[in-house]
Amino acid sequence: MAKKSRQANKPIISFPKVILMPIANFLAREVKRLEERKQNLFKRDPFKDADRIVDNAASDTDAAEQDGHAQVTAMARHTDRRLIQIKKALAKIRLGQYGVCERCGQMIDTDRLMVMPETTICVHCEQKKES
Ligand SMILES: [Zn+2]
Repeated sequence: MAKKSRQANKPIISFPKVILMPIANFLAREVKRLEERKQNLFKRDPFKDADRIVDNAASDTDAAEQDGHAQVTAMARHTDRRLIQIKKALAKIRLGQYGVCERCGQMIDTDRLMVMPETTICVHCEQKKES
């Protein structure tokens, strides 16, 4: 006997493929774009420059390098967070749970999804998280 695993609280409403496909394509493109950006970021990181390890004389240059490194690290972290978020949204599409808030299980407002297609929580939970 074939047993289907079904969650009790899983909402029945889900987005039709016509809507999900463009979103999935958009998100997949974003993943590619962000991954490329991340690679470019690391190329720009002055700490990746092997010469600087030997050259310790100029403290001014060092400070600028520190700044550059901090900036690259911050941007990389931001890019990483977005990547994780987008991949999570893509996984939700695959699972047929896209548009469902992962915190309260309610449907996420479509207006919100239009602006932030990678979001996985509803506006109410977002507000709760921020406050
Ligand atoms: Zn919610």
